[in-house]
Amino acid sequence: MRRVIGFLLLAIILVGIAFGLGTLPGEISATIGTYSFAASVPIVILAAVILFVVLYAVIRLLGAIFAAPGRFGRGRHQRQVRQGDRAVTRAFAALAAADPKAAKREADRARRLLPQSPMALLISAEAARLSGKPEEAEASYRRLAEQSDSAFLGLRGLLRQALDAGDWTLAADFARRAELAHPGAPWLRAERARLALRTGAWAEALALSGPEAPRAVMATAAADAADDPAQALRLARDAFAADPGLAPAAIAYARRLRDRGEQRKADAVIEKAWTRGPHPDLARFYLDRESDVMARLKAADRLAKCNPEHGESHLIMARTALAAKLTGQARQEAQAAIAAGLDQRRVWVLRADIEEADAAAGGGEAATFAAHEALRRSQTAEPDPRWRCAACSAEQMEWHPSCPVCGTVGQVAWTNATAPATRANPPVITLLPSEAP
Ligand SMILES: [Zn+2]
Repeated sequence: MRRVIGFLLLAIILVGIAFGLGTLPGEISATIGTYSFAASVPIVILAAVILFVVLYAVIRLLGAIFAAPGRFGRGRHQRQVRQGDRAVTRAFAALAAADPKAAKREADRARRLLPQSPMALLISAEAARLSGKPEEAEASYRRLAEQSDSAFLGLRGLLRQALDAGDWTLAADFARRAELAHPGAPWLRAERARLALRTGAWAEALALSGPEAPRAVMATAAADAADDPAQALRLARDAFAADPGLAPAAIAYARRLRDRGEQRKADAVIEKAWTRGPHPDLARFYLDRESDVMARLKAADRLAKCNPEHGESHLIMARTALAAKLTGQARQEAQAAIAAGLDQRRVWVLRADIEEADAAAGGGEAATFAAHEALRRSQTAEPDPRWRCAACSAEQMEWHPSCPVCGTVGQVAWTNATAPATRANPPVITLLPSEAP
């Protein structure tokens, strides 16, 4: 309705102007060379308007003719982009459905239609990966990695390829470059932590891991691997602070302190660890520096007093007393160790050694009989504690930060649990030949 009113108003104005022009008096004349021309003012104005309209129409027509190829090209390009976008979407759907054939077909189409698009390059790489063509995927990831906008996507793909191939060194290199391209990505942090564990880069693994990681184990391993003594000391101290009951952590810290001449501090570390969890390696380290048997016995006594009721305390006293030829005290301590719960082969073998020492010192037949009896008992006693992986039950001769068999970190623990009955190879006890039943 408003348009109709507007149109009517315009028509009235135009008619008014035309009427005004039509009533204008006068005449316009012109002479060009031998030609002369004369007309009334309204006719001349009408002719000028018609000429303007015709010229305008001709210019627009010429413009449209010259612009036609460009517009056609633009239209074609837009159509191509639309088709390319559809191919990208379909390729993503095929990738999500794990359909390698469709993914490859649509990815190839997207690459043909959108040759410059990083998105098309990415799905092309993913489709090649899904189709089991790692070389093709790698080529596309590398092209992505060369462009600053898509470098992280390319490096992420290359990192995954290297992980799949088990090339940890190459994977670590890609991870470092990806970190530069997109610092602080949580996914990348987790991958780098896993890689650091696999490559034994303990200090890096420690820095990248969260609080749920076995930090005492990792810090101990990092301290053992560190070349710089100050860094090794700091890492070992952190390990001991994280878990004072972890014997390897305490020994790592005490060893660094001893190397610096801080003997009292080193002793205090071992004593604290003995309070938390006595372990033969702690005692070995503690007594190492004493060469005199009586001095060793005194040191053992100091250590045993930190956890006087524990079987290991009695056992270490029995060993050092025997070395000092104090068989009476040794026998008493060995008996106390058994009474404290260490009814184990190693304690009965020690009992046999004590009786044999007594027999050699003139103890007579009673001592020889007691030695045989102790050896007999050792056959039926509980097995000795071992370093064992809690994840795969594999036994280890020494402590490892990660299980050499299954690779699990922080699961090798000192345990006296018997090996599972299903194991093909039972634990080999080398102390004595087994007695036939
Ligand atoms: Zn294991």
